[in-house]
Amino acid sequence: MSVATLPPIRDADAPFCPGGIDDTPADLIIESSDRVHHHTHKAILAFSAHCFRNLLEFPSPTGEDANPERDGKPILSLPEDSVVMRKLLLALYPRSSQAFVIKDLDGIDGAVEAAKKYDSPVATTQLHAALRDVQLMDNQPHRIYAIACHNGLEDIAKEAAVATMRLSTGRSPFNRYFRLPPPEYNYISAHQLWLLENFQQEGAHSIASALSEQTWSEGPPNPDAIDINEYGAVWWKDVVYVNLQEVRHAQGCGMRSVGDDYDVGPSSWFFAHVQHLRENLSDMSMETVTQKLTMLSPETLKAILACPACSALASTHLSRLSKWFSTKVVQILRATASKTNFTEGRFV
Ligand SMILES: [Zn+2]
Repeated sequence: MSVATLPPIRDADAPFCPGGIDDTPADLIIESSDRVHHHTHKAILAFSAHCFRNLLEFPSPTGEDANPERDGKPILSLPEDSVVMRKLLLALYPRSSQAFVIKDLDGIDGAVEAAKKYDSPVATTQLHAALRDVQLMDNQPHRIYAIACHNGLEDIAKEAAVATMRLSTGRSPFNRYFRLPPPEYNYISAHQLWLLENFQQEGAHSIASALSEQTWSEGPPNPDAIDINEYGAVWWKDVVYVNLQEVRHAQGCGMRSVGDDYDVGPSSWFFAHVQHLRENLSDMSMETVTQKLTMLSPETLKAILACPACSALASTHLSRLSKWFSTKVVQILRATASKTNFTEGRFV
């Protein structure tokens, strides 16, 4: 780049602007590749990164080789751009205020690499923690997946893959309202993208199997079961008790025999309800699935209201099932993710 095309020098935003950190004047300026001046403290950099410690311990060159200075402070030019440098510095500084909290993913991919290059376990730990941040994970799991794949962070890649299943389809990167892919998709291979899609299909399949467990029983379910996941729900019972009163299902409702053997199914309305969910699973996120367990169609509602036992207990039992199922879904997806090695691009 010729001198004429260099961007003008400007100061970084707070907290790395001049006077950005109360009471402690900066004593080192770090210039990024795009000529942004970050006003920093030698002692903190030396404490947080081995590479800076070595660099800053050397006596500064003098004479013609002297480092450039600004207001008596040495300027250290580094090859990272200002977006990456900002994230690296945030990860190097102690989090003394909100100003030092990492709030978005921009530049994290480069900062993870830089933390390794400048030999800073502190920054590496902080950047990994930012990638695991619940809010970022919920909102932008595809970006985190790509950053994790690019940097070989297998555990984070697994967590992010699971989190992509939480995202409603309207917010997936393949939604037609997204004009651009997640920026970090530049750094991952088609193979790694395939692994993510393959995991999502496997995950949806496992959720469907778990749903079908709810509608089928080989042999009679335990009549004393209380837990919702062990046939404790009204749709598996012949008799239920409401305020100590025995209540039976309406004619044609309640547990029924299926086929010639001892196979049984739950109340027809519940069977149909879950069947419908399973059939539409491919365009649902896992949160939608658990929510939809409690969302009833007019036909289902009609069937429930026609039965004294179901109208007394179905709504409560469906909510309990939904709550239990949302925990179960996470376990299922984590187990599914554990079978894939996303960062090395091969099955374990
Ligand atoms: Zn019933």
